[in-house]
Amino acid sequence: MTNVLVVGSVNMDLVMKAQRLPAPGETLVGGQFTIVPGGKGANQAASAARLGCNVRLIAAVGADDFGRAAVANLEAQGVDRSRISHVAGVATGVAVIVVDAAGENTIIVASGANAALAPAVIAANADAFSWADSVVLQCEIPVATVLATIAAARAAGTLVILNAAPAVVSLPDQAFQVDYLVVNELEAAALTGIEPKSPAMALEAARQLNARGAKHAIITLGALGCVHSDDSVAEHIPAPQVEAVDTTAAGDAFIGALATALGEGKPPTQALCYANCAGALAVTKLGAQSSLPDAQSLASLYRQHCSG
Ligand code: ADP
Repeated sequence: MTNVLVVGSVNMDLVMKAQRLPAPGETLVGGQFTIVPGGKGANQAASAARLGCNVRLIAAVGADDFGRAAVANLEAQGVDRSRISHVAGVATGVAVIVVDAAGENTIIVASGANAALAPAVIAANADAFSWADSVVLQCEIPVATVLATIAAARAAGTLVILNAAPAVVSLPDQAFQVDYLVVNELEAAALTGIEPKSPAMALEAARQLNARGAKHAIITLGALGCVHSDDSVAEHIPAPQVEAVDTTAAGDAFIGALATALGEGKPPTQALCYANCAGALAVTKLGAQSSLPDAQSLASLYRQHCSG
């Protein structure tokens, strides 16, 4: 079984539906309200666990009700909770999301305890890096902790998958020195200045990411799948055609599946095709973690779509 170590964010998403988004200073009467577990770290950990990996998550939540609920949810998804700390005096990360009748949204994230995930936590969890087949991380935690995670993984000789999300304009050079750097179109544009409007343009942006140090640069392109470039390959890997219902967490499903497939020994192109299938399945269902595919449905789509 593949061992995946995720270092990242845990949030609770407070989602309010409304006819329209409020103007500044305006009070609206909203519609349905739901609280759902989120955070890219938590979602990606849940994705890999659902696909059968052993998953440990290094993260921080507050010593509050949201933190307890978020951790209980992760445990229910099969994610090891022993390295998630409950930090006193700070709130669990929260995203406040308003969705209007047309599906347009506004989102504000209060990082809370995620911002308290300090580099010292990485040093204290050094054993998890040699246990892992791959280390997965994103940019919803402090940059210093991202860099410490990459350094710890390299010291342990463990494969690193960095999902440089959400979009950041500048990342220190060391952050590019990873085995797999995965970004979506917006994040690719922020990092490279190239808007990947086509797979060819995305490959141009990917080559820039290679030039900065990423061994494999991957740009996800929604319904078009993804592009992949390394020192010998520049390829577009199409996604299966599906009926999209809700694109939330497609990227997180993709990353969890990529870690799973690489851990199983699939070569990069096949692993990325598997990840495309996971992202495609996630968009066919509503929600974030509730839309993540299981191993069986993913294996069946992979057999049909990837001739693997
Ligand atoms: P993000 O969710 O981070 O914005 P994307 O929208 O690029 O990322 O989606 C991630 C992956 O999910 C894509 O690379 C693709 O594999 C899959 N995907 C997303 N949208 C669709 C879609 N409409 N049809 C098929 N696959 C999709």
